[in-house]
Amino acid sequence: MVSYPRSISIPLKYCTYEVWPDSRSVRTVFPDGLSCGAMRDESDPNNIREAREGEGYTGPDAVWRSLVDHELLHSLVAEAVLDRSSVVLREQAGDQTFTPAWEKYEEESLVLAYQLFFNTGIECRPLVYPVTGVIPGRLILSKFKAIKDQHGDIYG
Ligand SMILES: [Zn+2]
Repeated sequence: MVSYPRSISIPLKYCTYEVWPDSRSVRTVFPDGLSCGAMRDESDPNNIREAREGEGYTGPDAVWRSLVDHELLHSLVAEAVLDRSSVVLREQAGDQTFTPAWEKYEEESLVLAYQLFFNTGIECRPLVYPVTGVIPGRLILSKFKAIKDQHGDIYG
């Protein structure tokens, strides 16, 4: 019997997010065909320390679970805050559109802040906030939880 790698496919507003538990990798696929894959070295002490101390993950799968949440949150934050796809993931996927550094740092900062909040309840203040409007944190939180409920164990 041939076994195929398991994957979990999560349709989002501006992309499809794929989780591949067997290879411990994730991928974000955009409608124009660009895609951005990601893996993390789970034995790297810096990755372990960031996942545990920086983002509040526990257990032996801390780095993997951090990666799954991190890449998903890039898209959820971009959707909810600016109603667009993630500029960070688009750039990693090869999009040549110029994006100012501050926009990328803003998105990155919010993603990390939400990870810490979801895991610990600690509301750290991201380095930067969107200039317009209030961060729709409850929307991001509810979407994040709904995806996890709908797709079961997204970590495999
Ligand atoms: Zn990131």
